Amino acid sequence: MTPSDREPSIRLFNTLTREVADFRPREPPAVGMYSCGPTVYADQHIGNMRAYVFADTVKRSLTWKGFSVRHVVNITDVGHLTSDADSGDDKLELAARIQSRSAWEIAERYTREFKADLGRLRVLEPDVWCKATEHIPQMIRFAEVLDRNGWCYALPSGLYFDTSKDASYGRLARLDLAGQLAGARVELVEGKRNPADFAVWRTSTPEENRQMEWDSPWGRGAPGWHLECSVMSMEYLGQHFDVHTGGVDHIPVHHTNEIAQSEAYLGDGLPWVGWWLHGEFINLKGAKISKSTGVGVLVGDLIDRGYHPLTYRYLLLQAHYRSQTEFSWTAMDSSRAGLRRLLDRYATARQPEPADRLGAAARAHLAAFDRAVCDDLNTPKALAAVVAASRDDRLSDGDLTALASQFDSVLGIGLSDLRAADLDLRRSEVAISPEQVEELLAQRAAARAARDFARSDALRDHLAELGVAVEDQPGGTATWRWT
Ligand code: AMP
Ligand code: ZN
Repeated sequence: MTPSDREPSIRLFNTLTREVADFRPREPPAVGMYSCGPTVYADQHIGNMRAYVFADTVKRSLTWKGFSVRHVVNITDVGHLTSDADSGDDKLELAARIQSRSAWEIAERYTREFKADLGRLRVLEPDVWCKATEHIPQMIRFAEVLDRNGWCYALPSGLYFDTSKDASYGRLARLDLAGQLAGARVELVEGKRNPADFAVWRTSTPEENRQMEWDSPWGRGAPGWHLECSVMSMEYLGQHFDVHTGGVDHIPVHHTNEIAQSEAYLGDGLPWVGWWLHGEFINLKGAKISKSTGVGVLVGDLIDRGYHPLTYRYLLLQAHYRSQTEFSWTAMDSSRAGLRRLLDRYATARQPEPADRLGAAARAHLAAFDRAVCDDLNTPKALAAVVAASRDDRLSDGDLTALASQFDSVLGIGLSDLRAADLDLRRSEVAISPEQVEELLAQRAAARAARDFARSDALRDHLAELGVAVEDQPGGTATWRWT
């Protein structure tokens, strides 16, 4: 692509301003980018994975536009409570009790599995992985500065940030503190001055019997979840940096609190981070896929059902990151069919060497792709350009080979190295046995006979979730097949 075919800049939606604007880092071409990583108390489901495929798409797109991105991702292995608003158990400690293992083992196990899943989805390795438990002294020093400068108050349960001292508190989320916030968050911590105040440090109670705890000026305990991200991002990216990503659920509490304490700590009156980018949820039957409610599908489940993980990545990229999207096995099937068609074409055309110079038609497709990427990461449109190029018989094999590697540098869906046949994994039969299918079909037939159509539909949906399609036949019988 000649420079004139390229969009001069990439436009991104900044949650801070609620506007799409030209992305301008502080010191181009360098970009410092921090992504809130997982709390490693359980398997990361495919909903969580959307957040990391999104961050990966941001990073790949910025790299595509010539920026040199330093990407930092944290592992929250301590301090995240079962409620984001400072109540409940530490998620790691709770998992350790339930599974009768040490909290350290829990963290190690789920971190390992998380990283394996990222690899399967071709999420690029960050430049820095950082674990909360390895940065405790830095967190204590940070909290000491806040405390010394009058931002905090101590309670028996820990050190709390006084949000009433921060005139701009809640600006990321546009929180209406007087109304919405007070109503939304019940004050569960005794002595908290304002409902939104949050723990910078939590002091352990004797009955808690924590495995992970450290001495601090506010007693033995553990850091607050928000503190971790403020401290680790600054440690690896400097006091101010360019991009911070996370899921939309992080806007009202986690990121709001990260901003409040970081700007209080810095005290220079400048915005801490320039660009806040948030990815929307993927839902299962209209509800957020979520670890805490136990509704979770894992990357391993996709594989067990014979789907290549990149089929899921392709499914995600078909939705804009700021739209909610719906997961279903039917959507996975269409996604697989779409990706298979693309790989058929790009793999057949694949040459040992790409074309030296792209022909005019190929350049036009690349320009359309670039426009889509620069338009707030419009991956559905970018994929439309990939499809259009695959159908354009004016393109030479060399053109397609060159385009595949360019497209793939942003999309990561195997255009330049996979073949369509690679998408067909051998399905394992773990999901449900044929006997269990027959049993559920018998229950469904009984429900239909009793005219309980709600139950009959629910059973059909349940079977669909397990990868079984039911077809009703005339005369009231039903047949089924694996999907
Ligand atoms: P957690 O481990 O709970 O902190 O979540 C890790 C990341 O996954 C966060 O950025 C969440 O916003 C994100 N996340 C959780 N559930 C979903 C979902 N159903 N769809 C998209 N992102 C999600
Ligand atoms: Zn974070």
